[in-house]
Amino acid sequence: MKIKIIGAGPAGLYFAALMKRHDPSHEITLYERSQREATWGFGVVFSDRALEFLRADDEALYQYLTPHMETWPDLTIQVNDTKIPITGNGFAATGRLEMLTLMYAYVEKLGIKIEFQTEITSLDQVKDADLIVGANGAFSWVRSENEQKFGTRCDWRPNRFMWYGTSKVFDSLSLTFRETDQGVFCAHHYRYSPTMSTFLVEVEDETWQRVGFEHMSPEDTIRYCEKVFAKDLDGHPIISNNSYWRQFPAIWNEHWSFDNVVLMGDALRTAHFSIGSGTRLAMEDAVALFKAFKEKGNEVKAALARFQELRLPPMKKIWDAANISLRWYETMDEKVKALTPVEFAYSYMTRTGRVNHEEVKRRDPGLAAAYEQLHPEVIKVA
Ligand SMILES: Cc1cc2nc3c(=O)[nH]c(=O)nc-3n(C[C@H](O)[C@H](O)[C@H](O)COP(=O)(O)OP(=O)(O)OC[C@H]3O[C@@H](n4cnc5c(N)ncnc54)[C@H](O)[C@@H]3O)c2cc1C
Repeated sequence: MKIKIIGAGPAGLYFAALMKRHDPSHEITLYERSQREATWGFGVVFSDRALEFLRADDEALYQYLTPHMETWPDLTIQVNDTKIPITGNGFAATGRLEMLTLMYAYVEKLGIKIEFQTEITSLDQVKDADLIVGANGAFSWVRSENEQKFGTRCDWRPNRFMWYGTSKVFDSLSLTFRETDQGVFCAHHYRYSPTMSTFLVEVEDETWQRVGFEHMSPEDTIRYCEKVFAKDLDGHPIISNNSYWRQFPAIWNEHWSFDNVVLMGDALRTAHFSIGSGTRLAMEDAVALFKAFKEKGNEVKAALARFQELRLPPMKKIWDAANISLRWYETMDEKVKALTPVEFAYSYMTRTGRVNHEEVKRRDPGLAAAYEQLHPEVIKVA
């Protein structure tokens, strides 16, 4: 089959690798608009569960990627100066660029060509392919120019966030909430290399408006955030990499393909960064699309229908959880004011409904016991 993939992010790269590994006669080209060394953002985080899924599907790739990851067993929730360490939540992180560089090498070794600095802007440019994959991220034009066919829904969420980095190396995956006169600032921060951490700053829209970030220069914005998180940064700078304030688009598509064109990864659906699953979901899409082709041979239409059938149920569960999680942050100011740090940490842990009291107890008996003291009624419920 002649396969053309638009976008060499985790979804496109992994799908290419799986197809070629299975059948070296496939003629596969990946088109990537950026340069090989350029990428946005800093590190990405995977939960232990996300890595387990990868391991179950592809032990070899798991062994290839995990030595390059930073891992920690715990999570820390901090409200102003009170830290609540929460055990039983394993995480791993790696630099986005490092992960992509490893994946480029993996894919190229299989004989797949990646055309860097090649922006595809119309399906006509790739029309001689048997299969066209739109793996070009959350702002995919393959999707937006065909919204009717895909049945696209996009829900722009109100919170504002900025993906920064810092040279301060943190020793656990941390969420720090700091109250200021203008509102609560949340930092999602974690080490992703021995010398660097991701430092994602999120605020409610009202806070963003009150501070006047819209009219603030990038340098002043960094200085402002450094001041808010001065105690956490310990004198280390906040570092920008084309960082700008964004709002999160929660994207969904009713139909995942038309003719021989299919969407995957963030182009297909976005999952809020607070559940650390975007990269994992993108890679799982690749596995499902590959399995569909393995089942249906080169019957493109049948395989694309099978892809949606196979992938929809597990993916929808995580997508729903991600959307509940993002809403939790949209009322963080109210929660910081109303809850004690223990209640706040408990509320965080149980926010998506996928972790109940029994599960909190299993992961962190100390947190469960502290919460039971404040809310004995949960003991009966559990
Ligand atoms: C702020 C933020 C924090 C995140 N944190 C995490 C995290 O902690 N953990 C996690 O797992 N995930 C995280 N994610 C999500 C994760 O980055 C994505 O879910 C994941 O990268 C999706 O992979 P993808 O291959 O679908 O798309 P992308 O990684 O977006 O890749 C798409 C590629 O397509 C290329 N492209 C776009 N248009 C064209 C074109 N016209 N022609 C050619 N190439 C094109 C782009 O340059 C890009 O390389 C985060 C996302 C954001 C925005």
